Amino acid sequence: MMKSQKLDTNPAESGPSARSHSRFVKRYVAIISLIITVLISAIFGGFNHRHSGLIREHLAHEARAFFNEIVQTRQWIINQDGVYVKKKPGMRTDPFLAGIAGLKTAITDGQGETYLLRNHAAITKMISAMATEERLFGISITSLNPLNPLNEPDAFEHAALLAFEKGKKEIHRFEKTPGGVLFRYMAPLPTRKECLKCHFDQGLEPGAIRGGISISIPADQVVNEVNETRIYILVSGVLLLGLLLSVIIYLARRLLTVLDEDERKLVKLAGTDPLTDLFNRREGNRRFKEEISHSVRERLPLSIIIIDIDLFKQINDNFGHQAGDEAIIKIADTMKATLRDYDTICRYGGEEFLVILPTTELAKALEAAERLRRVIEAEVILTGNDKKIRLTISCGVASLREDDTIDSLLYRADNALYIAKEEGRNQVRHLENRL
Ligand code: GH3
Ligand code: MG
Ligand code: MG
Repeated sequence: MMKSQKLDTNPAESGPSARSHSRFVKRYVAIISLIITVLISAIFGGFNHRHSGLIREHLAHEARAFFNEIVQTRQWIINQDGVYVKKKPGMRTDPFLAGIAGLKTAITDGQGETYLLRNHAAITKMISAMATEERLFGISITSLNPLNPLNEPDAFEHAALLAFEKGKKEIHRFEKTPGGVLFRYMAPLPTRKECLKCHFDQGLEPGAIRGGISISIPADQVVNEVNETRIYILVSGVLLLGLLLSVIIYLARRLLTVLDEDERKLVKLAGTDPLTDLFNRREGNRRFKEEISHSVRERLPLSIIIIDIDLFKQINDNFGHQAGDEAIIKIADTMKATLRDYDTICRYGGEEFLVILPTTELAKALEAAERLRRVIEAEVILTGNDKKIRLTISCGVASLREDDTIDSLLYRADNALYIAKEEGRNQVRHLENRL
């Protein structure tokens, strides 16, 4: 007979474990996604930086070439002590050169043509004006202390000149102006001995920085191209990142589905009796507790039946243990077929079963037990060893009372079963004082 015992009151096992899978996978997906995002951002950010750097270096290279060209041209003019250019309408003698004693600032040839003396500074200015007009580049020769007040440095040039005094060899940057974006470049002009002829009163020594040449290259197109490339890089980076993250999320979801499926299988296995495929005692107790809580909460009736196979030892003795097992399976199958789908049937011990009948009053529970008893008596017959044995069961029924605990309910059903056995077996009994 069944011993009354404390029930295992563990809650359902599928929930917390499945949630811990999900938390674990989510945490790893988050870490991997973060690493991939950082990597992709670093790679594409690197591309962008490298590309902008190359463009900037290319412009600096171009500006450096202009600078050297101008320095060479100026040096050549200085070497010639200036050059004479044919006087065109509107051209006048250079007032600065006119102030230097001993210089012929204008000469006339045999045909009466006049030529005006121009020095390196004036010629640079003319080339600059021409280049600016054609929007090729602008040149400006300036110093912190210019001879000509028109050669005052602008903000970029001023900052560059100060940097040159601290030893910087060149300065460049992009600058937004009302006329568009310019690539500004500036490099210093060191003082040569011959410079001192004109710049003698500026307190300069040969080798000292007396100023610099700044080059301005229109850079609207280049900047637009850099921005376009930046957009391509950004879009490709975002697309690649989106693709990788989607793959990771897809794989993580698949993994979670497989884990959940395995988890469900394991939980089912853990709660199933392998011989009969009924719930085992552990799962039966868990469901028993749930059903009682539900019935108490909803004020619904609930009954239980404790079933024990009659004289089962004899089955084993006469037909062998194997046949005994088959008899247990047969009775389990008969119970499954006879009871309602929402009744819980569990193998509670060797050849003992507990049936939980939710929403069932005592009378209906007795009917169900009686039906089960009759069907088993009629259908479960063992043959072998020239013997034929009809299997029967005894049932103890109890219905939930207001003051019941799980133990008190089980206790009444177990006692009722005891009485059924005592009174001759193959019968249904209850100890309730009402029907
Ligand atoms: P009663 O009518 O008083 O219940 O008599 P009984 O012979 O059935 O006595 P009891 O219920 O105490 O004995 C149960 C026997 O069932 C004992 C054990 O050998 C047998 N048994 C328990 N579990 C299994 C099982 O899984 N397979 C088989 N073949 N036999 C089992
Ligand atoms: Mg028994
Ligand atoms: Mg028995």
